[in-house]
Amino acid sequence: MIVGGGPGGYEAALVASQLGGSVTLVEDEGLGGSAVLTGTVPSKTLIATADVMTEVRESAELGVRLDAAGCADDDPDHGVAVDLSAVNARVLDLATTQSADIAERLRAEHVTILDGRARLDGPERVVATLKDGTEQALDADIVLIATGSRPRELATAPLDGERILSWRHLYALTELPERLIVVGSGVTGAEFASAYDALGSDVVLVSSRDRVLPGEDADAAQVLEDVFTRRGMTVLSRSRAASVVRSGDGVVVTLADGRTVEGSHCLLAVGSIPNTEGLGLETTRVETDRNGSIVVDRVSRTKARGVYAAGDCTGVLPLASVAAMQGRIAMWHALGDAVAPLDLLTVSSNVFTTPEIATVGVSQQQVDDHVVPARQVVLRLRGNPRAKMQGNRDGFVKLFCRSVTGIVIGGVVVAPRASELIYPISLAISQRLTVDQLSASFTVYPSLSGSIAEAARRLHGTRSIT
Ligand SMILES: Cc1cc2nc3c(=O)[nH]c(=O)nc-3n(C[C@H](O)[C@H](O)[C@H](O)COP(=O)(O)OP(=O)(O)OC[C@H]3O[C@@H](n4cnc5c(N)ncnc54)[C@H](O)[C@@H]3O)c2cc1C
Repeated sequence: MIVGGGPGGYEAALVASQLGGSVTLVEDEGLGGSAVLTGTVPSKTLIATADVMTEVRESAELGVRLDAAGCADDDPDHGVAVDLSAVNARVLDLATTQSADIAERLRAEHVTILDGRARLDGPERVVATLKDGTEQALDADIVLIATGSRPRELATAPLDGERILSWRHLYALTELPERLIVVGSGVTGAEFASAYDALGSDVVLVSSRDRVLPGEDADAAQVLEDVFTRRGMTVLSRSRAASVVRSGDGVVVTLADGRTVEGSHCLLAVGSIPNTEGLGLETTRVETDRNGSIVVDRVSRTKARGVYAAGDCTGVLPLASVAAMQGRIAMWHALGDAVAPLDLLTVSSNVFTTPEIATVGVSQQQVDDHVVPARQVVLRLRGNPRAKMQGNRDGFVKLFCRSVTGIVIGGVVVAPRASELIYPISLAISQRLTVDQLSASFTVYPSLSGSIAEAARRLHGTRSIT
């Protein structure tokens, strides 16, 4: 029995079925979960349009002239504008189609799908309340909880879905916010601030910390903050939002120090809450931590025998890729297949801003704090021939390796499409390749990946280059 049909749940269902299990999955809102319907897929689809706008805006330097009739000479968008209702229609269409594709795949693999809400009644029984109001109690040898998370709300900033929004509301907008205040400068806040700025909104990013992206590599975050301000975004650092209220056709955000910021819309991106209430966990030995996340080990076991948990409801690392892997690991373990415990040091992740920030392995913080001894190199993108040709100056490749053996243990790439460039570093880490092995492979000339090989080449020997 699988509760929740996001990546944690549906990937587990596919593995369980492949291994010969009889699988039933209960999903409340739609297959694919928030990853497909309100989180990853819609946001990255919106960002695809934002990327095109950034390219248009920056194309003049490459000699492109798009001057539309009647367009002002100093219009940085060359008269090119975004039709947000068309963009959002595409976003929602893509999400719905992907959800349907997942349903089809699961049915093809003989997974029974129940439309409804489930709770546990002891560790071996799931009670599903179906959309037609009926209840079904189902016995299970193995239960996987993969119920995800939802946006955190603030009592002093009540959402209205029109002007004061969570990320779930964004795709109902039919017009581009004139002035969007984004509260929260973590990954979600930074991504939407970057996207709406590119789409043409005037964006104010309210950050309670010293800099944007407090959880990411500090050098990468600095590049991004510089780019944000250069593009005209207002970044308010060390500014905690105390309240958000509606005022006529707009919103007023009051900061903790009494300053106020006015805008047409406010997006709250202040974290997520695990969906673990009302699940009947008290009828089992499943434990939650003080944030309400389900406590699991590295093979996704909870404290209750036979009950596993995966994804955002565990608070391990809020990524679709991690949710999916936790779900698969749970089923491999439960059904007796070969299984390697989850290793977070091999997880690559990406912030889909412009430029993107991709990271894998040990962090600069761990190296600076001497938690992990390492040598490192940083190569600025502006020295890369392909980047010069494409007019890209912002970004770098950073590589960490073990001091003595030269084995690659971490990396950060800040570049356009960094999400595609991080893979060789990820592969080097998981396969324990040395910097010499990484640099021995050919890269295309000219290419951004050339900087990865070059960074590895510079780490040959014993010196650190910063
Ligand atoms: C704006 C945004 C952008 C993101 N971008 C990325 C990205 O680029 N890359 C990335 O890797 N991650 C990204 N994430 C994170 C990613 O979406 C989550 O980590 C992922 O969705 C977690 O998967 P999950 O299966 O744990 O939960 P979910 O995807 O949330 O699915 C859980 C499902 O369980 C269902 N459910 C809950 N309770 C019950 C119940 N009692 N009975 C039945 N069903 C129930 C819910 O309806 C939901 O469909 C993003 C998140 C957000 C919010």
